[in-house]
Amino acid sequence: MATTNPNKAAEIRRLMLAALGEAAADLCVVDARDLHLDATLEDCATYAGNAEKKARLVAAADPAAAVLADDSGLEVVALGGAPGLLSARWVTDPGGRPLDGPGLNAALLRRMEGLPPGDRRARMVCAVALLLPGGRLVQGWGEVHGVIAPDCRGTGGFGYDAVFLLSDGRRLSEVAPGIKDRLGHRGQAVGAVVPELRRWLRSEEVGIRSG
Ligand code: IMP
Repeated sequence: MATTNPNKAAEIRRLMLAALGEAAADLCVVDARDLHLDATLEDCATYAGNAEKKARLVAAADPAAAVLADDSGLEVVALGGAPGLLSARWVTDPGGRPLDGPGLNAALLRRMEGLPPGDRRARMVCAVALLLPGGRLVQGWGEVHGVIAPDCRGTGGFGYDAVFLLSDGRRLSEVAPGIKDRLGHRGQAVGAVVPELRRWLRSEEVGIRSG
């Protein structure tokens, strides 16, 4: 798994276990930090490009591994789709370092102050790249639509979850992890590449038969 974000790593690990069942027990999931690689070079023009780049970085270190990477973002309609690809770093601290979730949310809420609910529509998107040994690239996409709340609430999730209101009035930070996995952008994107991952796991090259 090519990510330096522990929250994402936890979500992807959980999604993999749910999707692959017993087969997941035979998997060793590593994240980019374990390989001492910098997987934060997100300079492509698309989420899919960034996800592929991160996957290729990790695959280069271990060509025998299947590598999964994602890139995600928050797009607010009234901000013309911003922060979008720059969601992790559109605002920084005085030292130029990216802010954490609460800092990003505070900055977003300030930027959107006074906007009526109708102008607060947004989506969270996620592109996943699965790179299989031999070079086959499988891509997945997921998105969840909602509204940016006027404040932060909830203790679950991470990043923008505390301000992201679903259509049922709950935030991504207020639903159980399994619900976020089912409704959320990352769950959809990972789900789209799972059939190929399963096929590879069952191939003669790997030979895992369960799951
Ligand atoms: P990136 O995919 O690592 O570039 O993440 C972009 C930004 O979106 C980071 O600030 C993340 O914390 C945030 N983010 C990524 N995934 C989620 C999510 O599932 N919920 C809320 N925020 C997220």
